[in-house]
Amino acid sequence: MTRLRAENYRTGKYWTHGIQLVEGCTEVDATCAHCWSRQMAARLGRQGVVDGQWTTVRANPKALERLQVTGYKRRPRVWSAWNDLLHEALEWKDTFAPLSRMRYLPDDRLIVLTKRAERLRQFVRELTRPLPANVAFGVSFGQRVNMDRWATLASLPGLTRIVSVEPLIEPMDLSAVVSADGPDWVIVGAETGSQRRRCDEEWAKAIVDQCTQAGVPAWVKGLQIAGRVVHDNQDREWPDWAVRQVPEWLEGE
Ligand code: SF4
Repeated sequence: MTRLRAENYRTGKYWTHGIQLVEGCTEVDATCAHCWSRQMAARLGRQGVVDGQWTTVRANPKALERLQVTGYKRRPRVWSAWNDLLHEALEWKDTFAPLSRMRYLPDDRLIVLTKRAERLRQFVRELTRPLPANVAFGVSFGQRVNMDRWATLASLPGLTRIVSVEPLIEPMDLSAVVSADGPDWVIVGAETGSQRRRCDEEWAKAIVDQCTQAGVPAWVKGLQIAGRVVHDNQDREWPDWAVRQVPEWLEGE
């Protein structure tokens, strides 16, 4: 068993709790063009969004309060940090605060994905003590040109390391990324939404095949199948190869 629930395996959501530790973000590359988080913030009329664009980037202390020990017995949670906790507008203490808090939630897990790999490298270099083992860092890239983010993450010792190729917007050869040495987990998925860009099933399948060969667990979040976006693995057209595997790091529930 893992900390994820049956519905996670069905719907592809690889976290049980989303947490907006950062309000706002700025685009890094072409995969940000239809940023889901920004669209949601605009739709919900969140502060700091004008004409569909964020105007500020700042730490969100209210979200930080959610990372606390509760007084009742509960299932361990898998947190996914939304927006980019390594954004250059944040101070190191803003990035460090939620990670440090995870020490007091040893059964929970926190997933931090970033497109700012170099900033992550600088952050890790600044640390004076190891990060809690229940935090995993991932680099996100959906284009070949940004694949070197993995090399940066791979060079950082002692971390649980994830690669997210979502949204995948072109075919990609991950043979220089997946190997017996890692990463610990690969997440792959097509872009969603009305403005989604093409993602052939074969592109995602090629990545899953490479992960299988290297012994790296893969999680297929969503696919474009015959013009539809499909997340539900009980959909009659969901292919058998589109696995939802998890790393040991998520086991223990
Ligand atoms: S880095 Fe992530 S949160 Fe920031 S703009 Fe890009 S997609 Fe959105």
